[in-house]
Amino acid sequence: MIKVTLKEVVSAATLKLNEADVDSPAFSAQLLAEKVFKLDRLKMIMEINSAVESDAVDEFNALVERRAQGEPVAYILGEKEFYGINFLVGPGVLIPRPETEEIIEMVLARFNKDDSFLFADFGTGSGILAVTVAKFFPKARGIAMDLSSAALNIARRNAKMHLVDDRLLFIQADFTTPALENEVFDLVLANPPYLSDAELYEISPEVAHYEPVSALVGGIGGDELIHGSAPRIADALKFPGCMFMEIGYLQRETALQIFESIPFFAGNVAVVKDISNHDRIVVAEKK
Ligand code: GLN
Repeated sequence: MIKVTLKEVVSAATLKLNEADVDSPAFSAQLLAEKVFKLDRLKMIMEINSAVESDAVDEFNALVERRAQGEPVAYILGEKEFYGINFLVGPGVLIPRPETEEIIEMVLARFNKDDSFLFADFGTGSGILAVTVAKFFPKARGIAMDLSSAALNIARRNAKMHLVDDRLLFIQADFTTPALENEVFDLVLANPPYLSDAELYEISPEVAHYEPVSALVGGIGGDELIHGSAPRIADALKFPGCMFMEIGYLQRETALQIFESIPFFAGNVAVVKDISNHDRIVVAEKK
C-alpha cells in the first residue's frame, strides 16, 4: 500500500482550505494536524516527511472538511490557548482573543503574587479571565458571572481543570444583579459584548455565524453594556479599587465619557492600547 506523508496531507488540506476561502488556511491545517497526529509544533516540522496512518488521515480529512465549511478551529478542537494556558471552548462561548491577554498583563502589573484580593469577572464566558487570574494569584478569590448557563458550564469545567474551582464562584448573573453588595471587590474585570449591530455584518462571517451573538453584540450602538455596567462597577469596587474592561477599538471616546461621568472614577480613567496599537482596555480607578 502506498503511504502518504504528513507533508502531503497537510499541503492538500491547506489547498482545500484556501479554495474554501476560510481565515488562516495554513495555520488551520497545521493546528488540526497537530491534534490528530498527536504532534507538537516542533515535531510537526521534524516529522513532516514521515508516513501517516490512513485511519488518522481519514480523521484529519473529516476535521478539515468541517473547517472548510467555516467552523472555527477552536470549536472543532474544543480548546484554545489563552495566555499560554489551555481552555475548553465550545459553541456557547466566545473564543479567547489575544487582545484580551492585555488585561492579564495589567493585573500582573498591579498585584503581587501573594496578595489576597477579591475580584469580579463580568461576562466570564469560557472563564479565561477569572481562571487565569486565580491561577496566577493563589490567594485571590473571584466571583465570575455570566447570563448564559452554557457558558457557566464551560467556565466551571475550566476552573476545575486548572484546580482553581475552590476559589471561584460562578453565578448566573450580570452587572444588574442586586445581590452584589457595594464596595466588595478590589478588582473588576470585564470583556463585555461591544460590537454594534452594524459591525456584526462587517466582521468575518466565521465569527458572526459561529460565535454567540450575545457574547459579541452590545446593543444597537455596541456600548449598551459599557453604559449599563459602569455605575454598578463603581459601586461594587472598594476604595481603592480598579477596573479593567475591554472595549472596541473605536470606543475610546465613548468609554472615557461614560466612566469620567461617574463621580467615583472622575479624573482616574484611561484607555490603554493593545499589542496592535488599537485602543482596547479601559482602566478606571476608585481612589
Ligand atoms: N470574558 C470572556 C472573554 O474574555 C467572554 C467575553 C464575552 O463573551 N464577551 O473571552
